[in-house]
Amino acid sequence: MLEVKDLVVAYGRVTAVKGISFTVEQGQVVTLLGTNGAGKSTTLRTISGLLKPVSGEIWFEGRRLDGEPAHKVVQRGIAQSPEGRRLFRKMSVEDNLMLGAYSRTDSAAAIKADMDRVYDLFEVLGQRRREPAGLFSGGEQQMLAIGRAMMSRPTLLMLDEPSMGLSPIMTQTIMRTIRELQAEGVTILLVEQNAQAALSLADRGYVLEVGSIAFSDTGRNLLRDDRVKRAYLGAA
Ligand code: ATP
Repeated sequence: MLEVKDLVVAYGRVTAVKGISFTVEQGQVVTLLGTNGAGKSTTLRTISGLLKPVSGEIWFEGRRLDGEPAHKVVQRGIAQSPEGRRLFRKMSVEDNLMLGAYSRTDSAAAIKADMDRVYDLFEVLGQRRREPAGLFSGGEQQMLAIGRAMMSRPTLLMLDEPSMGLSPIMTQTIMRTIRELQAEGVTILLVEQNAQAALSLADRGYVLEVGSIAFSDTGRNLLRDDRVKRAYLGAA
């Protein structure tokens, strides 16, 4: 579904992503792991069309994606829930969700049906839909950020650190939701620092180290991998 080939991305003279390649198959959950500054967010932002690669190619559903502006990327079926959530804190839950649907050209009824689906997934958002986003807890705001990304009806959903700052219970809720979305047919590219949580549900994981992919394997194998245990799972 998604193929990233030899991708190089730089901020001025700083090369943040140094020629990475990876693939995401339809229906999979794929995770990118790595410490701070490894280049995970940069990779997602480049797929989203927010950054232009220096070189390399990105293919999505058989067609070239790199070079497309961000709004075209959304129209092709890719949505990103960004690191730090980036909600409009003074706007209501409902209005934040509507922003996620801005690029859609189908009927208001279809958009309303998707909003109801978000409220089914995250009940608290439905119950307090008219309240400003800023009044919600970190976990609830994360739900809203995921819900907003869902409102563009993506076939590929990219989540950047959805567990950041959340309690273990809330992290579990978010991970359970990711599984539910996968069961509904959404393909997911997940950037996480919580390797345990991410690998427990990922079909495949890629480990990034300073801009390069160090190794990759199935989620299950990476959970047992000594290198992963030492660097990301806190084992001695
Ligand atoms: P984190 O979890 O800390 O966000 P990451 O793996 O997502 O880590 P990136 O945010 O992609 O890493 O950063 C990769 C490299 O690019 C780092 O060296 C970072 O300092 C640099 N970088 C990121 N954003 C910018 C920017 N806007 N301008 C200059 N350098 C940047």
